[in-house]
Amino acid sequence: MSSLKTITQQRCSRCGTAYEATAWRLVDGVSDPALKDAVKNGALFVRECPSCGHRELLSYPMIYKDERLLCCLSDRRLDVEGLDGVQGRIVPDAGSLIEKVKIFDAGLDDVPMEFCKFVTRQELGKDVELKFLRLDGADHDIVFTYPEKGEMQMLAVGFNVYEDCCAIVGRNPSITAGLQGLVKVDREWVEQFLG
Ligand SMILES: [Zn+2]
Repeated sequence: MSSLKTITQQRCSRCGTAYEATAWRLVDGVSDPALKDAVKNGALFVRECPSCGHRELLSYPMIYKDERLLCCLSDRRLDVEGLDGVQGRIVPDAGSLIEKVKIFDAGLDDVPMEFCKFVTRQELGKDVELKFLRLDGADHDIVFTYPEKGEMQMLAVGFNVYEDCCAIVGRNPSITAGLQGLVKVDREWVEQFLG
């Protein structure tokens, strides 16, 4: 499988200028590691207006695939077959796709990660949208970002919190039993097990 792209029409949200931009429909992270990096750092979703220079992060339909993950960025329900050996996910926006690729690329799993985010929100005592950024340092601290008062905040959590969440998932087969096809593994999904 190789990556596929098309040209799309964009309209600048600031000045209204119409321009053409590349939109990737399929990114194969195995055969195109440079494209995988461009997903992880968001470059594939950044649009820059040629007239006024305004930059924005744009979500568009895309399928991302590598050794561990097949992730569809789509606002529709989709079904896929042949997901042997990879986790199938569906996400609503570019930011969520970027996070999934980062999680799996770090050798982690998004199911315990969503539990880890739940626990971290509880500890923090704030209702914020945490996103996994990276593992940090020799102890592999989990680094999250979240927006607050218009700025991006960073927060590090001990790796043991993530390991505890892996143990919870391991003890509860009902959690992973529903992971068939393309699943939206997010905050809502994890909260159904914590009611
Ligand atoms: Zn513009």
